[in-house]
This record gives sequence, structure tokens and C-alpha cells, in this order.
Amino acid sequence: MSKAAEYNRLVSAVNHSSPPKVNKWLEGANRWLFPPVCSLCGSPGEGGRDLCRGCAGDLPLVEVACLRCGAPLPMAGVCGRYQRRPPAFDRAVAVCHYQPPLDALIKRLKFNGDLHLARLLGELLADRLSGELSTVPEAIVPVPLHSRRLRERGFNQALELARPIARRLRLALDWRHVVRHRATDPQSDLPAKLRSRNIRGAFAVQPGFSAQSVAIVDDVMTTGHTANELAATLRRAGVADISVWVCARAVFGR
Ligand SMILES: [Zn+2]
Ligand SMILES: [Zn+2]
Repeated sequence: MSKAAEYNRLVSAVNHSSPPKVNKWLEGANRWLFPPVCSLCGSPGEGGRDLCRGCAGDLPLVEVACLRCGAPLPMAGVCGRYQRRPPAFDRAVAVCHYQPPLDALIKRLKFNGDLHLARLLGELLADRLSGELSTVPEAIVPVPLHSRRLRERGFNQALELARPIARRLRLALDWRHVVRHRATDPQSDLPAKLRSRNIRGAFAVQPGFSAQSVAIVDDVMTTGHTANELAATLRRAGVADISVWVCARAVFGR
């Protein structure tokens, strides 16, 4: 079975109601049968989305961020985090702080398998990007999961977030050529100084990957070690320009 077929089989097994490839007609019918309901409070959704106006206003949006790494800043500029050694990526965009109520949505997506939330969160990311996309990448690369984790979880949340972004921004989505070939401990279980070592050498780019500019998509960025390692791997494979797009930026230690 091909990787694509295997992945779709896994996702369908977990969530029968939301197969990843739903055509427009089905989508319209689905919206008619099941009008949007706010994922946070249960009120009617706004603008065809599962989010009401009030809850949308409560999202902890990142207003001002480091131009290089996307870390929230009190004023415009570049933070000191990467001053000594620049990151392997060129720029990073985070939509929200990893704070209530957004953190709950990400946890429900990841740990409860609420895949419809990937669509909402991906669209929020696409909203932000469509206003400030300085360079248009040739391909979106979701941070891959190791096959063992994929089997446990049944889906890759980064890929599910990337799908609506790719659709909205009309970008190619490449999740076949970049793999996590080494199983790693969850970064969230580790202290900051061990995260870099944990993730080192975890990713590989398969033959046939040709994009020169890439946007890495993930749900949350904390210390940035995962995005940095994947970016370094892509860089070694010849990618010239690398953006990182995440739903939320977490502050380490919170
Ligand atoms: Zn609401
Ligand atoms: Zn920074």
C-alpha cells in the first residue's frame, strides 16, 4: 500500500465523519446539514466557520512578533534568541499565543482526534498569512510524525492543519518526501537543553523532492528546535528559502 493510501486509511479509521478529501459539493451539503457551531461555546458559527464572533474576539492573537523567529515581542523588531546563531529557517509566523482558549482547541485536535478543528485552525493560519505573505513558497511541508506515532494517533495534526492552508493559498502540499525516520521522545517531555539533541537527525528528505522554497507547518512552536532541525534538513537538501508557519507560539516553561 502506498504511503498516501496508508495515511488515508489510518485517518478514515479514526474519524469516519471527516475524510481528508471532501469535495466542494459535499462540503456545501455538509454545511447545510450541519450548520457551523462554535467549537468553544456552542453558539452558531460565523462566516461558515466553527467559531462565533465572540470567541473569535477572545483568541489570544500574536500582535507583534520577532521578524525572524515569530516570538511575540512588545514592539516590532528582532529578538535576541538567535543572535549568536541564526535559525535554519528564514522567518516564522505564529497566529496566536499558546494560551486559553486556543490551547484547548489544539489539545482537542491532537489528543481527542477532533479533526474538524484542523480546518478551523488551518483557516485561522491562512487568514493571517494571506495578509502578510512576503514570499510564496513552492510547497508546504507539514512536520512529519514518525510512523509509530502516526499509527498510535491515527493522523498527523500538522498535515491536517496544512490541508486547508494549501487549499486557501493554492499551494502544493508535500508530505510524501519528508519523513521523520527516527522516533524521538515528545519534545514537551524534555527540558530545553535536551530538546536539540533529542530531535537531531530525526528528519530525512527522500529523493524526488525539488522545491526551492518551502513553508514548514506545525501546530505549536515552543523552543523552535523541531522547526529548526527540519529546516536544517531541508536546507541540506537544497531548499533556499524556508518559512515556518504555526498556529501557536508557546513560551517555554509555561
Ligand atoms: Zn463561541
Ligand atoms: Zn526572534
